[in-house]
Amino acid sequence: MLSLRSSALALCYSAAEYCAPVWSCSAHTSQVDVQLNSIMRLISGTLYSKPLPWLPVLSNIEPLALRRKAATDKLVEKIVQHDSWRIQPDILSPPLLWLTSRKPLWLDLQPVDIKSRWWHNWRSAQVVNSHLVCDPKIRQHGFDLPRQQWSLLNRFCMEEGHCSACRRKWRLTDTDLCPCGETQTTSHIVESCPLTKLKWRLITADEDAVSWLTSYGS
Ligand SMILES: [Zn+2]
Repeated sequence: MLSLRSSALALCYSAAEYCAPVWSCSAHTSQVDVQLNSIMRLISGTLYSKPLPWLPVLSNIEPLALRRKAATDKLVEKIVQHDSWRIQPDILSPPLLWLTSRKPLWLDLQPVDIKSRWWHNWRSAQVVNSHLVCDPKIRQHGFDLPRQQWSLLNRFCMEEGHCSACRRKWRLTDTDLCPCGETQTTSHIVESCPLTKLKWRLITADEDAVSWLTSYGS
């Protein structure tokens, strides 16, 4: 996934964040976010229904709004240091805001530590299995696995994938039962099914987990 992540940052993010401080407060940033979210889904191998806070964690790329805020903070810092720049008075003594619909960058000049903000946002996010990730800022276990195992690992950790319960929800089958007789969810497959359960925690992506993912995927 390293090459996918590097390519995404070099080819997509660099273009999608061009001049971001100028437009980061626009009401239309969601149009850019939709495209970048789909790139993060590609990197993480997750499904479209996945909760958005998981995408930056699995892609090991900071959340989009925080990246734009960091770029804005960097620009403001440069402006403050250069007395000759004609934009400096607008930053240090902002003009009166006549139109409340406008949100110029000087409305929020308080710099933000994006890493601690990301950690705080992750801790307060109400997403499935968020407790599996202690620190969203670090590269998660299994990031260097082959794509099939990496994708499978993420789907199991987020409790969505090819299990009978999900296939029934997607109307691909009539039953949600496992061959063992219980309802087959992804957590059942990993944690309690006598036919497939894994004794060790999947999230660690250790040797046993990878071998389990490989045999399950095949
Ligand atoms: Zn079972």
